[in-house]
Amino acid sequence: MANTPYPQSYYAASANAAHPRPALEGEVETDVCVIGAGYTGLSSALFLLENGFRVTVLEAAKVGFGASGRNGGQIVNSYSRDIDVIERSVGPGQAQLLGQMAFEGGRIIRERVAKYQIQCDLKDGGVFAALNSKHMGHLESQKRLWERYGHAQLELLDERRIREVVACDNYVGGLLDMSGGHIHPLNLALGEATAVESLGGTIYEQSAAVRIERGANPVVHTAQGKVRAKFIIVAGNAYLGNLVPELAAKSMPCGTQVITTAPLGDELAKTLLPQDYCVEDCNYLLDYYRLTSDKRLIFGGGVVYGARDPANIEAIIRPKMLKACPQLKDVGIDYAWTGNFLLTLSRLPQVGRLGDNIYYSQGCSGHGVTYTHLAGKVLAEALRGQAERFDAFADLPHYPFPGGQLLRTPFAAMGAWYYGLRDKLGF
Ligand SMILES: Cc1cc2nc3c(=O)[nH]c(=O)nc-3n(C[C@H](O)[C@H](O)[C@H](O)COP(=O)(O)OP(=O)(O)OC[C@H]3O[C@@H](n4cnc5c(N)ncnc54)[C@H](O)[C@@H]3O)c2cc1C
Repeated sequence: MANTPYPQSYYAASANAAHPRPALEGEVETDVCVIGAGYTGLSSALFLLENGFRVTVLEAAKVGFGASGRNGGQIVNSYSRDIDVIERSVGPGQAQLLGQMAFEGGRIIRERVAKYQIQCDLKDGGVFAALNSKHMGHLESQKRLWERYGHAQLELLDERRIREVVACDNYVGGLLDMSGGHIHPLNLALGEATAVESLGGTIYEQSAAVRIERGANPVVHTAQGKVRAKFIIVAGNAYLGNLVPELAAKSMPCGTQVITTAPLGDELAKTLLPQDYCVEDCNYLLDYYRLTSDKRLIFGGGVVYGARDPANIEAIIRPKMLKACPQLKDVGIDYAWTGNFLLTLSRLPQVGRLGDNIYYSQGCSGHGVTYTHLAGKVLAEALRGQAERFDAFADLPHYPFPGGQLLRTPFAAMGAWYYGLRDKLGF
């Protein structure tokens, strides 16, 4: 049987010890079969177990193998399209519900970390950095918008003040969100998996779902086993492939790359990010960075539409890092990796039900660390028969990418090229 290891990354190299989990063999019966052990699957499993469901999780590779174990580790509030866009595209009741939920994912992460004592280097504080006055205007209105939805931990930073938190001359100001922050993402996933098992849930690794037999009593098939369940939650996101063909048309896997420097040493690290906040800029194709607990810089940026792996990640990302942090010109790069996230045309999550008993959430399009934790709660509520918040997401309209499966990649790349040009010209 195939044994898919973690990709080489700083996170895999610094992961907390985890016991190997068996592959599924034979037949099991459960209340809910969750497909995918990323944050969406694990968060769903945890909320369901806390509410008395029996849960079996099937993971094609290893816990946190996908985006959840490879991401920038930035806890960013709200969705990949902000609430003002949602307000313009749905009715006021639905917008109000979605707005109220926009800051819940970060709280869930902190509750999980505290309740299950997860060691994942959680730090508070995230900065949105403005590269020009248009970005600054956007941050001012974002602060007003978020405050309207009850989010109070925000501070606008002028040009002098942002220099106190990020040693980068490129920024004209920013917005500090103290309920943002950062984590070691793979260790968060591993801690959540241990929590799932502590509540009696079962996780099978190296156990890809290869077929779903739909109907009143659905069955999920793997190469060597099957799970009979009352409900199925599909949480494979960008790594799902064509297991559920209905979902593939309205979303597109995209690759994005991350590098990690050699340890910077305390002094350089403190000069660069004195309060240890994470940073992301306000470009459409944004750069983001933060320190690790052993004082390396993790830097990410750029998108490869269609999720092809670039040959030389360092050659793509290091120049971006040096533009933001020229102080690091003599620092080596120890790790470089790629991961896939799932893009939708609206950049809002794709959530819903297929028939009565197959639920899904995917496609949070970039910012997903907080949303996926919320998604688990909202999916569990729906399975318990409280679907109001689930329906607020499920009713968001989604459209197929222009060009279909064949041409969606070049079309999306053209769109990104246009936005990249706007970023460069400061529009
Ligand atoms: C490089 C990178 C950097 C990012 N940085 C940030 C960031 O800093 N902040 C932020 O908010 N968001 C970030 N994101 C996005 C965020 O990581 C994702 O939105 C989030 O982790 C998605 O979680 P998920 O559980 O839905 O999917 P995933 O974590 O991808 O998990 C899906 C899992 O399902 C499994 N699977 C797939 N198909 C099957 C199958 N048939 N059977 C069984 N298992 C299956 C996969 O192996 C995988 O483990 C980043 C993403 C990437 C790729």
